[in-house]
Amino acid sequence: MTDLDTIVSLCKRRGFIFQSSEVYGGFGGFWDYGPLGVELKRNVKEAWWRAMVQERADIVGIDGSIIMHPQTWVASGHVAGFIEPLVDCKRCKQRFRADHVGGEVCPECGGELTEPRWFNTMFKTFVGPVEEDAAVAYMRPETAQSIFVNFKNVQVTTRRKLPFGIAQIGKAFRNEITPGKFTFRSREFEQMEVEYFVKPGTDEEWHRHWFQERMNWYIRYGIKPANLRLRPHDPDELAHYAKACADVEFNFPFGWSELEGIANRTDFDLKQHAQYSGEDLRYYDEEQKEHVLPFVIEPSAGADRSTLAFLLNAYEEEPDKEGSRVVLRFHKQIAPYKVAVLPLSRKENLVTVAKDVWARLRPHFMTTYDDAQSIGRRYRRQDEIGTPYCVTVDFQTVEQDQAVTIRDRDTMEQIRVPIAELVDVFKEKLA
Ligand code: ATP
Repeated sequence: MTDLDTIVSLCKRRGFIFQSSEVYGGFGGFWDYGPLGVELKRNVKEAWWRAMVQERADIVGIDGSIIMHPQTWVASGHVAGFIEPLVDCKRCKQRFRADHVGGEVCPECGGELTEPRWFNTMFKTFVGPVEEDAAVAYMRPETAQSIFVNFKNVQVTTRRKLPFGIAQIGKAFRNEITPGKFTFRSREFEQMEVEYFVKPGTDEEWHRHWFQERMNWYIRYGIKPANLRLRPHDPDELAHYAKACADVEFNFPFGWSELEGIANRTDFDLKQHAQYSGEDLRYYDEEQKEHVLPFVIEPSAGADRSTLAFLLNAYEEEPDKEGSRVVLRFHKQIAPYKVAVLPLSRKENLVTVAKDVWARLRPHFMTTYDDAQSIGRRYRRQDEIGTPYCVTVDFQTVEQDQAVTIRDRDTMEQIRVPIAELVDVFKEKLA
């Protein structure tokens, strides 16, 4: 695996990820996805949605609002409990999360640290025109709560029986004390969460099921098993709502770190919302003829952390005739562009045919076009952004056979295919 700086600079140079507000010097903990990054991250989210919602009979989706009734966060425990211990360095004035620095002295300058102070990491905002206390609201620090407060709506409208799940992809916000490691720890990020509701007593079995399901998902989309592990939490690491939790971890250049948490949240959240709202959130079990409050298993993944993991996992530098080539070996469904169309030269007749080929492919696949510099360099440029296939239009195409060459990113093998068959060939290759 490569180091983080190599990926950060590739991301900037090729337009995957930029610092937010870069012209103003950036803004700590916020990132913008460029033209390639937005495709990559969309593909990650779509791969997740396909596996979690489309392919399963037992999960449906929602898209909840970011700002919710402030009582939500009192009931969920976040107003009282979503706090981090903050320490300042008395000498260099830098701030750190006490549990991240661990020791007694500043990791930057060795200075003495203050006693920890507790700090709530929810972002506050004001709803309505008057900045008064009554109008204080929070930017959601996790997407989960809109699923819990919609549990009854979804269950009744879809007439689901336990066990069933509700999935959501959406933004979450945390005023992290020490954002960093590129997009790994940001202040605005996206989560991909399932809340899976089960009968009490079956929760531990379902918890194990979800460990396997989620590990399989990363491997299905190309994460190397050697870069992935499941780490059960120690009891003192557990969040206030969890009975048990295990993290899916990726072997980042800065060490094994969390990609996803899979927690047994018990009936904590539904119980709290029932109590604070006065609504009956129990489920009526028709077999047992009784009301039950479901237990919840929560696989909670970060779209940005996964995207970063897919980038790091795909990066390879390998020797070739001209020195070395950089390849992002993305899974085909994850790759930002599927095909690049390259005329062998900028001769007008080649460009006309190449642009026609590009137009034929665009309705079916994310396709790009490049006619600048030598063909070898253009192959390199596509390898470096992970495009699985290049299509080359040459003199033979226009003068003789109306066929083009398809070059494979991984094997570098080339095959000749008639233009008329190109869409069908790619449909098969990219399926
Ligand atoms: P950490 O211990 O790294 O702060 P966490 O245990 O607080 O993470 P969860 O509350 O379990 O994280 O959130 C679920 C997922 O959301 C994480 O696995 C991660 O992928 C993502 N996530 C959480 N915080 C951030 C962040 N600041 N930046 C990017 N992604 C995040």
